[in-house]
Amino acid sequence: MTKRVTILGSTGSIGESTLDLVRRAEPGDIQVVALTANSNAELLAAQAVEFDAKFVALADEKNAASLKAALSGTNTEIGIGSEALIEAASRQADFCMAAIIGAAGLEPTLAAVDQGIHVGLANKECLVCAGDLFMQRVKEKGATLLPVDSEHNAIFQVLERDKPEGVRRLILTASGGPFRETSLETLRKVTREDALNHPVWSMGAKISIDSATLMNKGLELIEASYLFERPSAEIDIVVHPQSIIHSMVEYIDGSVLAQLGSPDMRTPIAYAMGWPDRMAAPVERLDLTKLSGLTFFEPDTKKFPALRLAREALEAGGKAPCVLNAANEIAVAAFLEGQIKFLDIARVVENALDQHAARSCFGTSPGHVNDIIVTDEDARLTAHEHIVSL
Ligand code: NDP
Repeated sequence: MTKRVTILGSTGSIGESTLDLVRRAEPGDIQVVALTANSNAELLAAQAVEFDAKFVALADEKNAASLKAALSGTNTEIGIGSEALIEAASRQADFCMAAIIGAAGLEPTLAAVDQGIHVGLANKECLVCAGDLFMQRVKEKGATLLPVDSEHNAIFQVLERDKPEGVRRLILTASGGPFRETSLETLRKVTREDALNHPVWSMGAKISIDSATLMNKGLELIEASYLFERPSAEIDIVVHPQSIIHSMVEYIDGSVLAQLGSPDMRTPIAYAMGWPDRMAAPVERLDLTKLSGLTFFEPDTKKFPALRLAREALEAGGKAPCVLNAANEIAVAAFLEGQIKFLDIARVVENALDQHAARSCFGTSPGHVNDIIVTDEDARLTAHEHIVSL
């Protein structure tokens, strides 16, 4: 049977890897329903033509004219603006890959969840800023959430979900990013290019910076807590520079189950898109005899305070993870634009958390998308004001 697939964020790193698998599938196995982008009209149009997409949505209106010109004479329908992203996610599909970056992905991903279909979740920020609400919606609508983050995908593969009482802890692995061995002194001077140069994974700019600060692991900690319904105390993080073991589950009898593979996002993407069946992925095969050694270290939260901040936000609960995420998005964008230094990223996030804690003590979890939008905007403003004052 043909699987109808929508990709939110098709022009990004995860989006392109997903389309690479679609390209390699047997003819007729996969039909592309909808594709979306923020502003990359040229690539979106090329993808629409190659995959004969029924609908494309472009969030940023500035490039609408060039998208329309590129797709004139084709059968692809075009939508512009943030409402069009929701329309793309609402078009009937069997599988939706949620691969928009940041909190901007929340509402479109919820629209996909509302269809009660299989949703491949790469956009971890939507669980970070709206964890309770998001998981509640998944349950209500009967959607199946398939984690695409390699760590969560690994846990999903080895976790006995119907016997939670047997699980002792989850162990998320972290590559440690490009600055694992860099001194704090040198970290003060690292450049945008240094930070974008991840030693193992090839990813989009924002997640590459998050990997360098270890905020990515902090966001993943929060994501894991909501996805697998485990408190912070039952989720450990271990640095594993080779990124061969993608994460582990420890059971009460002492067994530790791990998922291994080459560091290539097409494996977890294929797992999510194919589920419950396995789908072939053209990744380098793991040759255990050629592995020179697998090493593990404790993360250094003094050098990488973002990880501590994320754990504190998870433990504080309520709106704290939403504030953490919003301030981080603003700080990373400012770093990428050369407005702040690398070590300022965590400072901006910590300041936003402190200010919001002093004002509201974070309260309860946001119960409505509008509460999240208000908290998110408020935290962005706090982060902006701090950046301007630095
Ligand atoms: P990219 O930056 O490469 O791509 C992001 C995608 O989202 C692009 O299609 C982009 O469009 C679109 N987009 C950006 N901003 C907006 C917006 N405001 N509104 C609508 N669409 C927008 O990101 P990645 O592919 O690296 O990451 C996507 C998600 O997957 C993130 O949440 C990330 O944390 C997660 N992830 C990524 C991994 C990776 O290996 N890359 C690994 C694990 C998780 P345009 O091209 O037009 O800007």
